[in-house]
Amino acid sequence: MDFEPTEEQKLLKANVREFMDREIIPFVNDYERKYRPLPNDMAIDMIKKLAPLGYTGGMVSPEWGGEGMKFISYGVLMEELGRAWGSLAIMIVVHHGGALDLSRTGNDEQKKKYLPLLISGEVIASGAITEPNAGSSNREMETTILADGDYYIVNGTKTWITNGGVSDFCAVVGYTDKSKGTEGISRIIVDGRESPFESRELPKLGFRCCPTAELIFGDCRVPKKNLVGREGTGYEATMVVFLFPRTMIGMLSTGLAQAAIDEAVKYAQERRQFGRPIAKFQLVQQMLAEMVVETEAIRLLAYKACHLLDKGRICFMEGSAIKFFGSETAVRVCSKAMEILGAYGISEEYPLERYFRDARTLLPPDGTNQIQRLIVGREVLGMPAFV
Ligand SMILES: Cc1cc2nc3c(=O)[nH]c(=O)nc-3n(C[C@H](O)[C@H](O)[C@H](O)COP(=O)(O)OP(=O)(O)OC[C@H]3O[C@@H](n4cnc5c(N)ncnc54)[C@H](O)[C@@H]3O)c2cc1C
Repeated sequence: MDFEPTEEQKLLKANVREFMDREIIPFVNDYERKYRPLPNDMAIDMIKKLAPLGYTGGMVSPEWGGEGMKFISYGVLMEELGRAWGSLAIMIVVHHGGALDLSRTGNDEQKKKYLPLLISGEVIASGAITEPNAGSSNREMETTILADGDYYIVNGTKTWITNGGVSDFCAVVGYTDKSKGTEGISRIIVDGRESPFESRELPKLGFRCCPTAELIFGDCRVPKKNLVGREGTGYEATMVVFLFPRTMIGMLSTGLAQAAIDEAVKYAQERRQFGRPIAKFQLVQQMLAEMVVETEAIRLLAYKACHLLDKGRICFMEGSAIKFFGSETAVRVCSKAMEILGAYGISEEYPLERYFRDARTLLPPDGTNQIQRLIVGREVLGMPAFV
C-alpha cells in the first residue's frame, strides 16, 4: 500500500492548479452571477479551453486521439476542477464520460466520426436516461427507438440532461423492444446537427452555469449506424458507464470540500473577535478539524475507487459508496465552512454559498443517494432491495 502520489501525479496536480488559479477561478464568481446557464458559445469555449490539459479525452486511448490516462490521473484533474468551478466540472464529467464510453463501446466508424470532435471540444456530449416518469426506476422509461428502414425513429422526453441544450452528441437510451424487458433497451447517438431535437432549459439550485435541459424527441429520425453496440445491450452497458461519473462525483466533491476548507482557514486566520483571530477559538478549530478529516476520508475513498477501476475491477460498491459519501460530506463540509464565516458565509460576496449549492446539487445525479446505498447494500448482502 502506497499513499504517496507519484512525481508525475504531483506535477500534474501542480500544473492544473496553477492553470485553474490563472485561467478559470478569476472569472467564476462573475459568470455564476451573470449566466444561468452559460450561453452555448461560452460553454463550448470553456470546454475547449480545458482540452489541452486532457479534460476532454484524457482517458481515451492514444489510438483514438486521447492520452490513455489512468483513472487516478483523471481523478487528479477532476479534484482540481471541482476546487475551481463546480459548473464546469459537472459539464466535463458528462462530456468526457461520453467520449470515454464511445471509445470503449462504439464501433470504428462512430469513433472516427465523433472522437476527434469530442476531444477537441467542437461537439459537446450528453447522456439521456432520465425521463419525467422514470428517474430511479429507469427501466420504466417510455422512450422508444424503433427501426424503420435504414433509420431508427426516436420518440420520448428526457429530463435533467446535463449539457442537453448545448450538446450535438446525445447518447439516448430507450426501448427497441419493450417486450424483452431490460434486454430490449438500446443506446443510440442522436446527432443534433443531423437529427434535430427540441430542448428546454431547467433552472436549478447549483451548477448554475452548467446547461441542464429537458430534451424532446418527436419522430426523430436517426441513421441505424448510430446504434451503439447491438440492440438490447443498452441497459447493462449504462450500468457500467455509471462507474465513471459516480467516481468522478467523488473527486469533484473532494475538490469542492477542499475549496471550502481553504476559504474557511483564510477567514479564520484573518477575522478577529474578542481581541484575537477566531482561529484561536477551540470551537472553530473543532469545526475545521472535522472538515479536514472528513475531506481526507472522501479523498482516500475516491482514489481507492479510481485505483480499483485502473485494475479493471467493476467496483459497483466503491463507485456507489463514494458517490453518496462524497457528495453528502461535501454538503456538510461546505455548511460548516459557512458557519465559520458567520453572516459572510451566506453572502454572495464569498464563494461558500455557491460551493454549498453546488454540493447539494450533487445528491440526485447518476442515481440518488438512496439508490447508491441500495447498491452498496446489494453488493454486501448479495440481495437487491429494489427490483
Ligand atoms: C444536476 C443534475 C444533473 C443530472 N444529469 C443527468 C444526465 O445528464 N442524464 C440523465 O439521464 N439524468 C440526469 N439527472 C437526473 C438524475 O439521474 C435523476 O434525478 C435521478 O436518477 C433520480 O430521479 P428522480 O429525480 O426522478 O427522482 P425519483 O426517482 O422520483 O426519486 C424521488 C425520491 O424517491 C427515492 N426513491 C426512489 N426509488 C427508491 C427506492 N427503490 N428505494 C428508496 N428510495 C427510492 C429517491 O431516492 C428520492 O429520494 C441529473 C440530475 C441532476 C439533479
